[in-house]
Amino acid sequence: MKICRTIKEIQTELNPLRSKNETLGLVPTMGALHRGHLSLVESCKKTCSITVVSIFVNPTQFNNSEDLENYPNTLDQDIAALEAHNVDFLFLPERSEMYPDKADVQIQLGSITSELEGEFRPGHFDGVGLVVSKFFNIIQPNHAFFGQKDVQQFYVIKKLRDSLNFPIDLVKVPTEREANGLAMSSRNLRLDEDQRNEARLIYKCLSGAKEGLLNGQSIESTKEQVVELFNSSERLALEYFEIVDIKNFKPVNEVKDDSQIALCIAAHIGQVRLIDNLMLFS
Ligand code: AMP
Repeated sequence: MKICRTIKEIQTELNPLRSKNETLGLVPTMGALHRGHLSLVESCKKTCSITVVSIFVNPTQFNNSEDLENYPNTLDQDIAALEAHNVDFLFLPERSEMYPDKADVQIQLGSITSELEGEFRPGHFDGVGLVVSKFFNIIQPNHAFFGQKDVQQFYVIKKLRDSLNFPIDLVKVPTEREANGLAMSSRNLRLDEDQRNEARLIYKCLSGAKEGLLNGQSIESTKEQVVELFNSSERLALEYFEIVDIKNFKPVNEVKDDSQIALCIAAHIGQVRLIDNLMLFS
């Protein structure tokens, strides 16, 4: 695996490959890699002849400086895991390489970015849109791989792709979970064993709510049930639980078979904020 730290270096490597008709796949990450990230890499390797992984903790998408400062870093292990997966290139830029000047270009993708995550993390998706646009321009992949785990992010990036005409196929990869159902996340590294155990409740709530809705339970009582479960937890605090249409991430009033509905949750445990989701009909 070749590690490139500058834009010039990675482009010098990729340009000749692109003209040889290789298929380039990009897996953007913020590092502290786990099995979820590696399943994106595996999907990429199945579709593409060249796999590029980026590790960059993007400051413009953090609305909370403490979260940015405490973001886990396991670079040596990450490099070993990517090498073991036969990744071709790791793009590992410094902040000054990605943002040589103050980031004064803004990408705003409309109302989808102010729902759910956008409401609780103002400016988050503007930062995601900016950094992903930069990666798309720098790497110019044929395919880019993102996780269902961040479902709203996926649809924001789809809007970005469609609005700015990036000729890139976007692939959504299923969420990888711990044996107890907890969605894998780099932030799980900041949980102690008791917190990890308790955080199972997030998946338990999502699966219980999904089952209830599929059995005809009303949206209102489903939401009440989730709030009650969280009230019974000493450590976990619910930030939101919403049942949304993925067209716009607005809450739905009724469950219709023809809509694509996601159950989305965000919760705090200690200093850590976790998100997860399930699709209702798949
Ligand atoms: P992050 O490093 O958290 O920015 O995540 C990088 C990519 O990995 C994003 O597309 C995430 O949606 C995806 N991802 C994170 N956690 C998981 C997971 N548990 N399963 C599948 N994909 C994931």
